[in-house]
Amino acid sequence: MTDTQTAETEVDIVIYSVAEGIATITMNRPKYNNAQNGRMTYELDAAFQCAVADDEVKVIVLKGNGKHFSAGHDIGTPGRDINESQDRVTLWYDHANKEGAEFLYVREAEAYLGMCRRWRDIPKPTIAAVQGACIAGGLMLAWVCDLIVATDDAFFSDPVVRMGIPGVEYFAHPFEMHPRIAKEFLFLGDRMSAQRAEQMGMVNRLSTRETLEADVNAIAAKIATMPRMGLALTKQSINNIEDLRGKRTGMDAAFAWHHFAHGHNELVSGDKLGGFDGKKMAEENKKQNKKENKT
Ligand code: ZN
Repeated sequence: MTDTQTAETEVDIVIYSVAEGIATITMNRPKYNNAQNGRMTYELDAAFQCAVADDEVKVIVLKGNGKHFSAGHDIGTPGRDINESQDRVTLWYDHANKEGAEFLYVREAEAYLGMCRRWRDIPKPTIAAVQGACIAGGLMLAWVCDLIVATDDAFFSDPVVRMGIPGVEYFAHPFEMHPRIAKEFLFLGDRMSAQRAEQMGMVNRLSTRETLEADVNAIAAKIATMPRMGLALTKQSINNIEDLRGKRTGMDAAFAWHHFAHGHNELVSGDKLGGFDGKKMAEENKKQNKKENKT
């Protein structure tokens, strides 16, 4: 799944393999903590499509190489390709040549909300294997999976309220955690430990760095013994209940507010992210943590 069209010389940023009914999709930008650029987004989609089309595949595992599962959307690596056109997979038009708020709205409608919904509704069970950081855009990748297994040193956070934006584009927060905890999670932007995430039911099982792969494969192998259609129908039944509870319509509203915030930022500061890039965000988060440790 390599693509030499981008200026980046990185190769194999998404790796796909199949063994014994389990497709493993691996994000492979460890140098950038698997920051998700446009190219990675579309390569992930292509990998998911392969796994869906292959009758031998019963279960799909999503993981990230390196120290962290995902640092989120790419807002600052040399491979950031937000201005590039992509071979779109939903019925949106190209964002790259658009002005004003249309640019980002169109891009995120396709690449974030649209893509996440496609992946969430994949008619085969999916498992996220999470180690280390799972931040902002990284949350979306874990949340679209049916099951989440996390290492005991994994942590989750959505600090984008700092940008004046109400959380990431795939606004599943009040479904992944109690609404009061979702508010805490967003207002404070703090890290949530894997242990707390497991207690709340956001994470299915805890593992360790040493055992993550084996634990995930054991669950996947067990699921793979179930009939394909039974699994697909079960998944649809539960996803449908979530949508009846307002997941889909709530997310549509949050996405509109999200883009009101991007537009507002651009009007006020001239930057859609309120002047933040990956580096500045990390610095601010560090500062906040330091202050906290002093008190
Ligand atoms: Zn956005």
